[in-house]
Amino acid sequence: MSFAADFKPARVLASPNRGERKSATDMIVLHYTGMKSGEEALARLTDPTSKVSSHYLVHEDGRIDQLVPEAQRAWHAGLSSWKGVTDINSLSIGIEIVNPGHEYGYRDFPSAQIDALIKLCRDIVARHPIRRERVLAHSDIAPTRKKDPGEKFPWDRLAAAGVGLWVEPSPIDGGRTFSANDKGAEVEKLQKQLARFGYDLKITGRYDDDTRSVVTAFQRHYRPARVDGLADPSTVDTLRRLLRR
Ligand SMILES: [Zn+2]
Repeated sequence: MSFAADFKPARVLASPNRGERKSATDMIVLHYTGMKSGEEALARLTDPTSKVSSHYLVHEDGRIDQLVPEAQRAWHAGLSSWKGVTDINSLSIGIEIVNPGHEYGYRDFPSAQIDALIKLCRDIVARHPIRRERVLAHSDIAPTRKKDPGEKFPWDRLAAAGVGLWVEPSPIDGGRTFSANDKGAEVEKLQKQLARFGYDLKITGRYDDDTRSVVTAFQRHYRPARVDGLADPSTVDTLRRLLRR
């Protein structure tokens, strides 16, 4: 198998869990591994019975393994959706970042790991037409199922290096906050904005469980100082400013 010529991973370890793409590559999806160690994650991502894989695995010390060639479809997204498209595996490059995750002791991502990830992402976006707003979290494309890479992930550092869309979150200073089962035009407006941004959300006019999941995913990525699924003015204003970019 052949890999991109200008990027040199530490190791190339072919995962059997891959297939043919059905569309052009225009997105990066970032994950955490959510397992106790990087080697355990590597074993799972290359195990033919697991049916999961990613293109890259970034270890905490910055080493990078390549598991699936970029030209092929890796199996990392699962049931997911963005801007109405559901076969995310066909159009994305999946990157797994070693971290135990919320289940096994979620911790800060080491600088060496983030430095290596930034280099990798910059290399990828130089070779594919991937717009800034299409560098996303697994939780963005599967908000009811996934939390990764989570609120400790430094999206601001990536954006400072030209990777991903980011605005400084609007300050948290109280004010009217939506809560469970609120109804009306304001809820509907918020749902429409979240859906326009890309999230898979039905416009019900009610602050339902799905709305709370999507707001939680939005906060993990774009307003990580408080992740509670409640749309406070800071959350709403941060979303509004992102939509204007
Ligand atoms: Zn994931």
